[in-house]
Amino acid sequence: MPELPEVEALSAYLSERLTGRVIARVQPVAISALKTYDPPVTALEGRTVGPVTRRGKFLDIEAGGLHLVVHLARAGWLRWKDSLPAEPPRPSPKNPLALRLRLEGEAGDGFELTEAGTKKGLAVYVVKDPAEVPGVARLGPDPLDPGFTVEAFAALMRGDRRRIKGLLRDQSTLAGVGNAYSDEVLHVARMSPYKIAASLTEEETVRLYEALGGTLRDAVERSRGLAAGELKAEKKLGLRVHGRTGQPCPVCGDTVREVSFADSSLQYCPTCQTGGKPLADRRMSRLLK
Ligand SMILES: [Zn+2]
Repeated sequence: MPELPEVEALSAYLSERLTGRVIARVQPVAISALKTYDPPVTALEGRTVGPVTRRGKFLDIEAGGLHLVVHLARAGWLRWKDSLPAEPPRPSPKNPLALRLRLEGEAGDGFELTEAGTKKGLAVYVVKDPAEVPGVARLGPDPLDPGFTVEAFAALMRGDRRRIKGLLRDQSTLAGVGNAYSDEVLHVARMSPYKIAASLTEEETVRLYEALGGTLRDAVERSRGLAAGELKAEKKLGLRVHGRTGQPCPVCGDTVREVSFADSSLQYCPTCQTGGKPLADRRMSRLLK
């Protein structure tokens, strides 16, 4: 799933290509992806694109007073096309194409939103105000916002009885961090994903805050200037523990382990994060019974 750094890079990439251009056609293909109907998507046609920004993990494309807001979810992606085919896209269960946006001009350039797999989560909204999108209205503070100080972060942790892994991923607590970067942040901070937020000492709070900002800024820096098609590979390369079960930890050489849940899994290094003790994994214990 694209998280803050990838969506940040995507918004910069799109900003260069879209801002100042006029939208010619917007064609939804997967109707389930379209979450709003008033104003209709066609209302974007003929409008000039303004700023393209990121809100948490949402992309916000402003065009003449309207906003095309996109959430790529788990398997959604954006592909830039220098020349889109003239014929309208045909919906089919096997077609990963969810929406096509073509710009005015002879080249017929623009982008396509695609979504692989059967679990459809990609969401597209056309609204007058981004706050009309429930997921945007709920967003907590953005960790890259200059106003997001260590004091603001400490206030979020204070009194919160949740495990820090869950807290970091909760979009209404903190905007933009998902499963991958929360694993990375916790590895950099040398903290167990199961640690309770309220139990953090002042020193630990500062360490986690610095790991959060540092990890995200590094990832944004690495993604800067990359084309949409290169972002996924760059993300994978930069990860230290996420998705690396069984591989050596790049810091200490211990084996990266995982805990699996119904629809996700987390990865961590026991030596760096849990005092050398592996965390209980329900799936593993079931297999061992
Ligand atoms: Zn390690």
